[in-house]
Amino acid sequence: MDATFVLLPGDGIGPEIVSQARRVLELIATRFGHHFVFHEAMIGGCAIDATGDPLPPQTIELCKQSTGVLLGAVGGPRWDDPNAKTRPEAGLLRIRKELGLFANLRPIKAYDELIDASPLKRDVVQGTDILFFRELTGGIYFGPSSLEDLPGGGQRATSTMVYETREIERIFRMAAEAARQRRGKLTMVDKANVLEASRLWRRVCAELIESDFPDLDYEVILVDAMAMHLISRPTAFDVVVTENLFGDILTDEASMLPGSLGMLPSASLGAGGPGLFEPIHGSAPDIAGKGIANPLATILAAAMMLRHSCGLNEEAEAIERAVQDVLATGARTADLARDSQKVLSTIEMTDLVLAALQ
Ligand code: NAD
Repeated sequence: MDATFVLLPGDGIGPEIVSQARRVLELIATRFGHHFVFHEAMIGGCAIDATGDPLPPQTIELCKQSTGVLLGAVGGPRWDDPNAKTRPEAGLLRIRKELGLFANLRPIKAYDELIDASPLKRDVVQGTDILFFRELTGGIYFGPSSLEDLPGGGQRATSTMVYETREIERIFRMAAEAARQRRGKLTMVDKANVLEASRLWRRVCAELIESDFPDLDYEVILVDAMAMHLISRPTAFDVVVTENLFGDILTDEASMLPGSLGMLPSASLGAGGPGLFEPIHGSAPDIAGKGIANPLATILAAAMMLRHSCGLNEEAEAIERAVQDVLATGARTADLARDSQKVLSTIEMTDLVLAALQ
């Protein structure tokens, strides 16, 4: 297969980890007989320094013409001035908009070898393997909002949750298709006992299940209950789909389950165009330039890019298996190491993944 990937290393540890994910993609191309072309472009703080714009037009053009985009991370104390004209994060929000990305996918997988780092008990977390679909472009973050002064003093602020049928249908379909490829269970999270927008979600989703996905084991759970279930019985879930605000909170809660930020990738997808793939952690300025960052979340994001942007499932699984095998040998970067375990550098950890892939 021919594919063109845009690499957006960004700031902090971004360049260190994206360069390692590139090595993995290059090996996959050789091993499976694909032809991958790589372009590098600027985003975030480094782009502000170079051009004054956190998302220069050349970056947007390259991304739009690509098969998939792999991002490191953006931001850092250097660009934290609250009075600055623009901030690195603005580049991230704009690239999502430019690519029309409406679904955020976040796999939450607890690796047996790392479970002791989880804040929860081993017997609760063991076996957790959830794929979240969070709606990304609608809901209360983008609905009408206002702030007005009240005649008697004080102010009134309004934020409105707005959803249309088509916005619900397109992400629900994506989640349902994914559930079919996995264990066949789909959970939709809402607050239909209170919110009109949730009642629309519930109706639209129920109709789609009946018409197109009757084979799935489907359930709906209220968001307040879900917040509890996630930490009391995380293994009960397979694919979870929800609206923007609930997804924002639940995916952050869930990211604590495996106990290691450096292992979690995410993807943002739109309707057919290139997706954006990235680790969920930030630019880790405290360790940038030291060569000790954990590259595995970015390598796993590259695997997601192969699966979701290229349909290369076998290749994605090969990477995921290699990561698991390497962890099973006791290989650890500084963020994962415990007690007397040897600490590997970013490059040494990637070398082991490459060896496992050979
Ligand atoms: P962070 O995720 O960058 O770091 C939190 C802690 O985890 C730090 O101690 C860091 O060293 C460690 N860590 C993170 N990733 C690691 C890795 N791969 N290997 C080893 N250790 C790792 O979060 P933060 O410190 O709150 O934010 C730092 C900067 O990143 C801020 O400017 C923030 O705005 C930005 N940020 C960017 C993104 C993004 O680009 N998507 C996401 C979150 C934060």
